[in-house]
Amino acid sequence: MMKDNSSEAMKSDGNPVAIWEAKFKKDTLVGRDFREYWKLHVPKIYAPDESTNFLHITYDDESTQKLLFDTLKQFICIDNPAEVLKHLKELTTPAALCGKVFRMGEATYSCRDCGQDPTCVLCRDCFKASAHQQHRYKMNQSVGGGYCDCGDREAWKDNFCCSIHEKNATGSGTSSLFKFPPEIVQRARAVFAAVLDYALEMLMHENTMGLPHDLRCPAEHDGDADDLLAGTEPFHTPLYVTMFYNDETHTFEQVIECLRRAVECSQRDAVDYATIIDRVGRSIVKCGDFQTCHRAKQVFETHSTRHSNRPYKVHVMHTHVVAHQTFAMRLLLWLKKLIEEVDGFRTLFGQIVTEPAADGPLLERVMKTDTQLWKLARNQWHLLLIQGMLMEHDSKKVFAKTFTRLYPNLMRDFMRDDHNHSDSVTSLSVQIYTVPTIAHMLITDEDCLSIVTRTFYDECINRRNTQGVLAFNPRSDNVAWRRISYCLNDLRYLLSVRPTQWTEQLRRGFLHGFTSILDVLAIMEGMDASVRQMGNHLEYDPEWQTAFTLFGKLSYVINHLVDWCSTDRQVLVKAYRALLRKLYGKLSPERVKPSAQLEAVGKTFRVVEFDMWQNAVSLHLPLTRMLAGLHLHLGGFGLTFNAFEFEMENRPTIQQIVETSLRAVILTTQVRAGMWRRNGTSLVSQVHFYSNVRIRAEIQDRDIQILQMAAALEDPDEFVMTLMLRYGIHHWLDPNFEDVMRRTPDVDGETATCFVQTVQEFTHNLEELILVLIHVFGERYQPGVGAVTKEDCLKKEIIQSLCIEPTPHSKLCKLVVAENHQELSIEQLADQVAEFKLPQHGTGKGVYELRPELYSDYNPFWYHYTREEQSRAEGAQRRRKRLAGEPPCLPPPLLPPFTPEFCNARNVAVCPAMLNVLLTVLRRSSDLHARVFSETMFQRTLFLIGMALNEEERGAAADPRHAFGFSRPAQQAGVVDALQQMVGNPRVSSHADLLTWVVAKLNRLLGRAAAATESSSGAAEDASSEQKRRREKAAARRARILGQMQAQQKKFIAQNVTALAEHEEEERLAGSSMDLSECAGPDEWPVCLGPRQTARPAAAAEYTCILCQATEQVSSTRPAMVMAAFVQLSTVLSRDRASQAPNPVLYVPSNLHRLPHTSSCGHAMHAACWQRHFENVCLRERRRALRLRHNLSYDVQKREFLCPLCQCLSNTVVPLVPARMVALDGDDRPAVDNINVWIKGLQLACAHTVVRVNEAAPGGAEPARVRCRSPGLKAVLKHMTQREGNQFRAQVQQGDRIAETPTSTREMMNTFAMVPCMIGLDAGVEFGDQRVALMSLQTCAYTLHTTEQLLRHTGRPLLAELGSRGDICLTQLTHVCATMLPVVAALETAQEACGRLLRLLLEPPADGPTVMRLDAFGLVVTLCSLVTALFVDHADDIPAPSGSLQDLQCVRLALVLHLVQVLLTMDVAELARQEPMETDGEPADQDEQQWLAELYTLVRSAAGIDVADVSPPLLRQYVINAITPFLRCCALYFHFLTGVRAPAELQQSLPLAEQYPHLLRYLGLDSLCVPQATDCHSVLQDLIFKWCQHPSIRPELSGSRGPLVKYPLSVNTLIQLPDDFSELINKVSDFTCPSSDGESRVPAMCLVCGELLCSQSYCCQVQVDPIGQIGACNAHLMRCGAGSGVMLRIRECRVHLLVNKVRGANVPPPYVDKFGEMDQGLQRGNPLTLWREQYVKLNRLWLSHGIPEEVTRHMEDSFSQTDWQNL
Ligand SMILES: [Zn+2]
Ligand SMILES: [Zn+2]
Ligand SMILES: [Zn+2]
Ligand SMILES: [Zn+2]
Ligand SMILES: [Zn+2]
Ligand SMILES: [Zn+2]
Ligand SMILES: [Zn+2]
Repeated sequence: MMKDNSSEAMKSDGNPVAIWEAKFKKDTLVGRDFREYWKLHVPKIYAPDESTNFLHITYDDESTQKLLFDTLKQFICIDNPAEVLKHLKELTTPAALCGKVFRMGEATYSCRDCGQDPTCVLCRDCFKASAHQQHRYKMNQSVGGGYCDCGDREAWKDNFCCSIHEKNATGSGTSSLFKFPPEIVQRARAVFAAVLDYALEMLMHENTMGLPHDLRCPAEHDGDADDLLAGTEPFHTPLYVTMFYNDETHTFEQVIECLRRAVECSQRDAVDYATIIDRVGRSIVKCGDFQTCHRAKQVFETHSTRHSNRPYKVHVMHTHVVAHQTFAMRLLLWLKKLIEEVDGFRTLFGQIVTEPAADGPLLERVMKTDTQLWKLARNQWHLLLIQGMLMEHDSKKVFAKTFTRLYPNLMRDFMRDDHNHSDSVTSLSVQIYTVPTIAHMLITDEDCLSIVTRTFYDECINRRNTQGVLAFNPRSDNVAWRRISYCLNDLRYLLSVRPTQWTEQLRRGFLHGFTSILDVLAIMEGMDASVRQMGNHLEYDPEWQTAFTLFGKLSYVINHLVDWCSTDRQVLVKAYRALLRKLYGKLSPERVKPSAQLEAVGKTFRVVEFDMWQNAVSLHLPLTRMLAGLHLHLGGFGLTFNAFEFEMENRPTIQQIVETSLRAVILTTQVRAGMWRRNGTSLVSQVHFYSNVRIRAEIQDRDIQILQMAAALEDPDEFVMTLMLRYGIHHWLDPNFEDVMRRTPDVDGETATCFVQTVQEFTHNLEELILVLIHVFGERYQPGVGAVTKEDCLKKEIIQSLCIEPTPHSKLCKLVVAENHQELSIEQLADQVAEFKLPQHGTGKGVYELRPELYSDYNPFWYHYTREEQSRAEGAQRRRKRLAGEPPCLPPPLLPPFTPEFCNARNVAVCPAMLNVLLTVLRRSSDLHARVFSETMFQRTLFLIGMALNEEERGAAADPRHAFGFSRPAQQAGVVDALQQMVGNPRVSSHADLLTWVVAKLNRLLGRAAAATESSSGAAEDASSEQKRRREKAAARRARILGQMQAQQKKFIAQNVTALAEHEEEERLAGSSMDLSECAGPDEWPVCLGPRQTARPAAAAEYTCILCQATEQVSSTRPAMVMAAFVQLSTVLSRDRASQAPNPVLYVPSNLHRLPHTSSCGHAMHAACWQRHFENVCLRERRRALRLRHNLSYDVQKREFLCPLCQCLSNTVVPLVPARMVALDGDDRPAVDNINVWIKGLQLACAHTVVRVNEAAPGGAEPARVRCRSPGLKAVLKHMTQREGNQFRAQVQQGDRIAETPTSTREMMNTFAMVPCMIGLDAGVEFGDQRVALMSLQTCAYTLHTTEQLLRHTGRPLLAELGSRGDICLTQLTHVCATMLPVVAALETAQEACGRLLRLLLEPPADGPTVMRLDAFGLVVTLCSLVTALFVDHADDIPAPSGSLQDLQCVRLALVLHLVQVLLTMDVAELARQEPMETDGEPADQDEQQWLAELYTLVRSAAGIDVADVSPPLLRQYVINAITPFLRCCALYFHFLTGVRAPAELQQSLPLAEQYPHLLRYLGLDSLCVPQATDCHSVLQDLIFKWCQHPSIRPELSGSRGPLVKYPLSVNTLIQLPDDFSELINKVSDFTCPSSDGESRVPAMCLVCGELLCSQSYCCQVQVDPIGQIGACNAHLMRCGAGSGVMLRIRECRVHLLVNKVRGANVPPPYVDKFGEMDQGLQRGNPLTLWREQYVKLNRLWLSHGIPEEVTRHMEDSFSQTDWQNL
């Protein structure tokens, strides 16, 4: 190896800048000198080794910067880089162009008023600072790669610059480079050149085994591959890596699987590798000696061959090569930044890359290497080119020229490439070809149009069939074809703006391109021709899509070409001639030759012989149709088809030209009439696309125009007869036709004839023939054909669409879409012809409704109607007329006049041949024996005559030169008489009114006024008698239908007893509640709690089983009944979503986080019936094929099922509990009421709890267990005085005795109780678990909390009926939870739980929770139930809480606790700042104020926190407000528990503050005061001290142990969304994937907490057993929403409901445009604003826990295959 001296020198010196300096001075500095330096340092810094983590490669950025980049800057700037760069920047005028390159998903804005075309876009900042905000703008999301066009004068018709870039727009135009010191320019030039050369060489360095020689480090030796494989490497072993490259042929899954095998990494790592490979384009997957890396490569190769795909691209590379490539990438980035910073360098960059060199200018070489690079390297170059060349007009021009010259090469490379278009340098075409001046320059100077077309054409010629026509093989790979089709986009860009001024060169360039395009069209002419199948069906449907896709792209180009031609006479003439010549070559005289003779109306015609039913017909005639396009513009320059300009030898006649179009038109009408059925769906689809709204302007419309051309230029008789001949129905004109037809017998049901066609076919063909003539005569909405403007045409389209039905904006746009950017005018025009009606009843969509006066413009035979639209429109119009009381006749509308060139086309309606046809139709109509007849045929004939009469009428009134006469010739031909004779003919009764209209008009025109009145009155009479007859008929029909309906109703009742039974049941329930209120005495104020409790009813309820229909009383002697219910874990009310703490079982936590919620549809069933039903469901599911199982809307594994009646999602049943025995009647109510004694007693019970330690069995697995038991009442009483004892006894021994519970009900109680426990704790639970009873109490409390909040949120009254469903659900839930204790828990368990709860409350242990952690209402529910068990001896004796005195004491205790919470958490400072209130006059209120003030001081000073002065009335008001929700919950609970009716005040919606006194009264509390609480040294006061002095209370109040719950509990809602949707878009444009730091393709927002997530992406998946990988949204919801929630996918504006990781549904997003329409997927791009009603709906759904049910309903209804798990 060669010794290298210079590197030695550098080592000794150490300062590279000095060396470069020296060489620069001597003028010997070359690129190699920089490389010498990089050679030393780059491998050290950037080379990976075995210890590198390839998923997160990091470098020492600081030293790198200093060593590698700062040195370059130092050299350029001679000394002081910062200073010099600053100076250079000052010399610079910053770019006038914004040029911000868009990231994927970033919002872009286009202006429909000012944008030159839709590709002109603005970035957010520019948009916000521009005038376009007030215009009609559109919002879109970038796919990445484009840049902001702000400041580009050519991109905008107006307001080309935003206020940010405005000041730069006035730049001098000369580059600031010329102001730079020459020496600096020289230095920069040296550096730039070296950097660019190096980067180019390194990035495409293909010898992966070693570096170019001048970069090899002397110490290292690179063996060749053979040596290395042989393992004969002697010295230091060099390191290698296995580099894996991205391609677009393998799927993500394939790559992951392959990586897992080859690299032996975890699934997670494989996913991360795959993510990097996808984003960057390659990744190192292995590092080691050569053999290791080579082995890995081999594994990849065998893996890919096994999967028969293309092989993966995997290289083994020397680590130093990798290092230099990394550095090269960074250098490009550095250079780009430098150019951005110092604008003058851009000019220098442009100079350097375009300088000629031995192997071509650098720019060319960069472009050519494009496809050899990996994704990120390409993008890096593209960004540099955009920044360096496209920001300035001059360099952009140079770039455009180079690009165009290389175009064929680049496209060919791209075709063979396996990356997406956006990753290819060819995608830059949109940046240059859409700039009008550049496009025109390229067409003029570079022959660009032809170059691009030829590139495409060269690919086409390989795909011709034997007839020389393009043909696509359905089985061949079409990727290359799809890629080459990008040429058509480029053509479209180039032509998008037509020139305002033509030069000779531009004409030449354009026409050269034009003829090239004709070559392309010529080989498309006649594609995919079909031959009618006679006997058998076509065996397989031929491929047809490709041709239409191709044409779809081409149609824009054709449209532009015609547009260009229309602006210059010279160009038009030359183009038309070229087209005629080309057509002549196509329509070779042999193929289209007038050879047949046809005689009619006394003339002989020579016509082209062609049998539609024998020969091939094609729908693809782009060449012919383009002629029509150009032809329409001839008139504008005073040219005609026969003008001398077009005289030439070999040109086709009009007869030849029309031939192919005629066939196509006939084919489509026949296919629609069902005459080509045997040709299968392919042909049907083709015909469908023939009139597809996007391309029909260049297909269907052109065909009609060609027919109109022919009708105007040819002999009209010949035209009509040719048409007859092509339809094969010329025999029909024969007067003896019907006789001949009649003589032929019926064979096999089909009428065989001596003709080829059947009667039916004759009829159809004749109908279609007349329709074609209607179109030829009447379709004049086309500039050039009729005297109309483009606007008139669009208006007509809109009118015809609105005649079908009132239409929303988006649908109208779809129906009427035309060329680009016309939506603007659609909106304006629609406003002219229609009224926009805003949405009603929250349906969202507003609709356009046609102005009434325009209905007369309705044309029932409009050629753009599909069959279906035609009949819908006709139906709608007839209905409208009937409702308005008008005759239902739909006469032809007035037409605009033809242009002079097309005037003669009118003659087809009046030529002898046509009159003959009309006459024959009419005569045969009156001949009842004639079989070729249909009402449709008759209607169309009348319509055609009507149009002709309209034309005559208008002509007479207007210009006499263009007069048109129909009535006279028709009269002479006998048509008028034939018409008269049809009047009153029953065969045509359904069109009698149109006939009347036609006859009247005819008579008027013929001047037969007298006759007219006579006959028309006769006709009117006829018509009126006809109407009468029809009315009678209609009445008869109505009666018949009514009869049918009644019969059906009976049947329905028989089948749906269930539903009706339910209805009756509801009625009965309503009745029974009436009884309730009566028995309680309506005058008395109801009290539900305590000694003054109002008498309660104990009526047994009756229900009908929805399964067996039997009605059953719920009692202890009857079979048990249940209702379906659904328990879900919920965080809806959570005050602390982040909490990870396990759920306490003993009490309801005050943060209400992750609690079980229970809901029910309230449908009752026998327990036994339900069990049978559920077993059946399980059985059915087991039988279902395994693969279908996961998509199910419910999961039997989780015991889920649907309510058999209402299909409501359920997972358990709530047993219906028999009515209870009322324990007390009014007389022996206890007089004692002393909370102190009660608490003291309970404290004593705690203190004397019997503790028993179960000795662990020796060697047993069970540890020793401590068991606690109640000491019994006697033991407590022993420690009390007699008096106290009596008082205590009176207060505890109360409650309803539970009626004996039947076994089946007990079973159901156990079944139910397990579910809240399993779901609440998210764990398996054994039968008899002690937590079961506690968790069912929690679900009861939580469900009531939810109800209270929901009622509060919706503003509904607290105790008004919730509807039978809600009432029955809550009643049963509270009942079952209150009575189940003795069933689901052993006495010992119950007592132990009670003891533990009491200790927690009364003797709070220092390491236990403080009172702040307890939910006060939860405490009421739990305590009331448990405390009853304390002093009983047997489980069956446990009474149920019933609103007894003891329950009242529980409520008081909880109230005091809650007051403590409120007083401790109140913001004293805030309250002290408020104006003191007037003291209230009421003495009771004053007592409360007094008492509260005392309590306030007591509590806060006990806790040792701020006791500021607060005015007592303010304090009272604050407290009342804070505790009202608690009181409301209590009222709900005792209302449902006791059934005591609610006072009227609580059945109304009162403001919260006003409810307070009523709540107190209803709860049996006289006032807020619990006087003993502030009594000195009372038991209660001691207790309050204990609570407040808990060691944890201070840290908790300071918020250091999680968020503090404040009161009143506010209602949680979904997050606030901004009104303007683009705000959201912009918010997420900065969001990056949290796990890969890359872009997040599908950012989604949790609407519950607002967190952004990277959805539907491998990078953020989480492994969850047993489901597998789940997406980020589902993973987030496990934490945030206990599994279910609402997600907004921002880029697409979609809302998903997700449940349980595997289920989901789409619901309407809460954003709409100004037309009231949603835009899911942002297809239309109209600005969107928040749709509040929808968001409120969504919020309510969430708040009412309805998401799982909603999702189930959606999944039941739809067959969507969305893999919700991945979201
Ligand atoms: Zn911008
Ligand atoms: Zn701007
Ligand atoms: Zn604008
Ligand atoms: Zn039943
Ligand atoms: Zn139901
Ligand atoms: Zn991600
Ligand atoms: Zn969330």
